[in-house]
Amino acid sequence: MTLFVATNNAHKLEEIRSAMPGFDIRCPKDARIDFDFPEDESSFLGNSTGKALALWRLLGSPVLADDSGLCVDALGGRPGVLSARYGSAPDAAPLDSGDRNSMLLAEMAGKADRNCRFVCCMTLAVTLDRVFVVQETCEGQLLDRPRGAGGFGYDPIVFLPELGRSVAELSPMEKNRVSHRGRAIARMAAVIESIERLP
Ligand code: IMP
Repeated sequence: MTLFVATNNAHKLEEIRSAMPGFDIRCPKDARIDFDFPEDESSFLGNSTGKALALWRLLGSPVLADDSGLCVDALGGRPGVLSARYGSAPDAAPLDSGDRNSMLLAEMAGKADRNCRFVCCMTLAVTLDRVFVVQETCEGQLLDRPRGAGGFGYDPIVFLPELGRSVAELSPMEKNRVSHRGRAIARMAAVIESIERLP
């Protein structure tokens, strides 16, 4: 089955492709669509469903959308929905991940509560009226300094106590087994299997 994913993030696409081997995963560029959704909702749910429906309107075929980010308890849930643009002015280019991670760790200096979680809200729009949503998490602890070279974004600064490694120290397969996105995809795969008829 062909599924368009409402993202231009190559890392997300790669993770979704490897976690959904039975699907022909495409991105907006494959349909020569320059997809740029404002992502200005206050929740992962709002952004994820917004992206899915916006791309569906352009394509008229099933769309999967992911909105994700890192929520830090000691910062009242920040960066949250602003994860991709954290630390940059609204009209400026986003910081690169290294600078963003350094800024977040500086903000956390001296804070004892290091609890954080990755969140991923995934929406499948089969049509504009048949819409399925799952949201999953991956619980971790913020490190004092980055560890590991894998993954992307905030992965090097999030430690997973049950594995004793940062997310950036996991292989892609290991990350997909425990990550917010991997868990959301597993649930979405079960939803897709339960849908008796996709156009
Ligand atoms: P968005 O879903 O396009 O708004 O972007 C989410 C942002 O959250 C990304 O640019 C990353 O900075 C961060 N993020 C989302 N998922 C992950 C992940 O699996 N690892 C590390 N950072 C992530």
